[in-house]
Amino acid sequence: MSDETLNLTVDLTNCDREPIHIPGLVQPHGVLLVLHSSTLEILQVSRNTLELLDRTAEELLGQPLAGLLGDEQVKLIQRCLAKDFESVNPLNLSIERQHQSLAFDGIVHRLDAFILLELEPNIIESHTNFFDFYHQMKGAITRIQKAPTLLEMCQEVVEEVRQITGFDRVMVYQFDAEGSGSVIAEDTIHETPYLGLRYPSSDIPQQARHLYTLNWLRLIPDVSYQPVALAPVNNPVTQQPLDLSLSVLRSVSPLHLEYLQNMGVTASMSISLIQDQKLWGLIACHHSSPKYISYNIRTVCEFIGQVMSIELANKAASEDSDYKVHIKTLQTQFIEALSQTEHFLNGIMQLETELLQLVNATGAVLCSGSQCICVGETPAEADVRALLDWMKPHFVQSLFETRSLSKAYPAAESFQAIASGVLALEISKVHHNYILWFRPEVIQTVNWGGNPNKPVEVLADNSLRMSPRRSFDLWQETVRASALPWKPCEIAAVIELRSLLVGVVLRQADELALMNFELQRSNEELDSFAYIASHDLKEPLRGIHNYANFLMEDYATELDSNGVTKLQTIVRLTQRMEDLINSLLYFSRLGRAELMRQTVNLDELVHQTIATLTIARPQDEVEFRIPQPLPEIECDRARVNELFTNLISNAIKYNNKAEKWIEIGYIPGEGAEEMAGSGRSPILTFPTLTFYVRDNGIGIPPEHLDKIFQIFRRLHGRDDFGGGTGAGLTIARKIVERHGGKIWVESVPAEGSTFYFTLAAETDA
Ligand code: ADP
Repeated sequence: MSDETLNLTVDLTNCDREPIHIPGLVQPHGVLLVLHSSTLEILQVSRNTLELLDRTAEELLGQPLAGLLGDEQVKLIQRCLAKDFESVNPLNLSIERQHQSLAFDGIVHRLDAFILLELEPNIIESHTNFFDFYHQMKGAITRIQKAPTLLEMCQEVVEEVRQITGFDRVMVYQFDAEGSGSVIAEDTIHETPYLGLRYPSSDIPQQARHLYTLNWLRLIPDVSYQPVALAPVNNPVTQQPLDLSLSVLRSVSPLHLEYLQNMGVTASMSISLIQDQKLWGLIACHHSSPKYISYNIRTVCEFIGQVMSIELANKAASEDSDYKVHIKTLQTQFIEALSQTEHFLNGIMQLETELLQLVNATGAVLCSGSQCICVGETPAEADVRALLDWMKPHFVQSLFETRSLSKAYPAAESFQAIASGVLALEISKVHHNYILWFRPEVIQTVNWGGNPNKPVEVLADNSLRMSPRRSFDLWQETVRASALPWKPCEIAAVIELRSLLVGVVLRQADELALMNFELQRSNEELDSFAYIASHDLKEPLRGIHNYANFLMEDYATELDSNGVTKLQTIVRLTQRMEDLINSLLYFSRLGRAELMRQTVNLDELVHQTIATLTIARPQDEVEFRIPQPLPEIECDRARVNELFTNLISNAIKYNNKAEKWIEIGYIPGEGAEEMAGSGRSPILTFPTLTFYVRDNGIGIPPEHLDKIFQIFRRLHGRDDFGGGTGAGLTIARKIVERHGGKIWVESVPAEGSTFYFTLAAETDA
């Protein structure tokens, strides 16, 4: 696959510690000379000089370089030493031996106080013609730059490199954020494609990755080579092993060679692809027989790698920018929809598909208060609520983001198939507004180069040995519980959406506040109008009443009985009108007066009310039922007393049964049970408590259930059932509403009615 690939599953730290930069060995296809940088004395040589230079190591060690290369060539090297080695390598060198001239590519680099000179026999290549080479390169680079997408560029590169080098397999290998990677482009003569194969990050240990960033190209012409030792083994000046990081001949790890052999690879070359000074990937070349690539050709390949490295950023940026344009279009749609909507949820719900597209998600949930709306593939609502509760402390700047939720939140395992990736936005904590996006688990079929869990071989002496994988058949492993990562531009889109939504939420809050203010003002105006009107009407009414009385007293003898009856009717009507006006006046006062909240024992209060009513109407025999003692609550005692009085007296009045009964009770809420369990008398300030007054009276026809709460609305003749102004239930409703509660009635005509009320608004608590 790639250079320095080791199997790390057994002991990653061991492999990561393997000092691959100081193996003390080189590959045999060239000679390494270590020179003193000022004297150019030969301090160390590889032990293959006899084969390649026709001189033993001993003949060379301690000698000046000129003894091997002659003065002219040494001067050439000295001139180069001042320059950038990248631009001078390779030097065309020749060594004379027994009337024979041996040609070499000389590759120099400096290492502290030493010069490393590597000599590779110069093999004549077809690309020696500069113009051929120039045209080929020009064409290749244009094609690489013009490739519309990253993948097309990679394909262009593998084809180009294979054409230049003649390797039988060339691949582009890309690392992901976690360091594991996959083959994303391939050109090969082999039948088995490696395209799409994935490799674990442990295949390339840390120090190998580091060397890849220092040295952009590595070549192993024959994996079955015999490594060549250095003579002497350590640098004679420093007494240290020689750092071969920048050496082109450096011998690679035996494990890596075994790995390649297992793959059926005999020659290998790899070129680093670097983006933002990080290893982005590799161009990996394989050949099934030994293959040497000259330094010149290697330079061309390295150059292609460099061009591609530069283009990586451009391609990513242009792909990103297309995506960003798409996101912008979606955002504009959101702005439009949200500007025309009263609640942000409605606005977003018009754009369900776009909501998913905005971040390339497969599911989304919108939460507002107690409401949750699911779009696409999402976990069950209960799971979403639990997730949200867990997530709340984890928001950073209103954002939460993960690609493998179950790692942080194990409860997510049950729904990881649809929601391994989560991106969540907190729009308003106060209003409990959130949007969550989900991405499914990407079940990645990983075709490891062998089973990564069985990298250990037991040798004959029972010792353990790490070995690269032998089987390169597809070995599948599923990388579970991970979704595709959220891209930075997607996260940015969500943040922008948030500011948009916050604007809408704030606008709505403002509008609501304004409406409340208007409502309050008009209520106040209505109350004061009712007060003034009723107050002012009373005076002329009293006048009419008085004058009607005067008429009766002073002129009764002059009027016939018909006239007297009419006068009596006027007096009665004015009295009734006064009652009505008094009710109205009282009603308007109710709306204006402050509530005097205090802890009130309702049980006592109701018993007193019953006692008072029974005294006032001794003729009514009624059975009162109170199934359980009523609790203590925070309320305005006088008003709530009035409330019970109105409801109970109605229950007595509107009952024509021989055996009348009235039940007064409450339906406990969850909070009440908790309090009751605490062993003390429950003081209930929470909303879930519903009180009721039930009778077995005449009942109310269904069509009148709402009307009876309207002021002065009566369902009976003036004097039926003891008469009344028709204001009692209106006042009852006002009292309940002033306490923040609701009142309603359920009734079956001829069987009875139940009036329910609460004394506080419902909340989510
Ligand atoms: P009032 O009792 O002065 O007429 P209310 O506002 O208290 O005025 O009641 C309005 C109407 O609702 C009553 O006239 C009666 O028709 C009906 N009503 C009230 N309570 C009951 C009840 N418990 N059973 C049947 N009808 C009732």
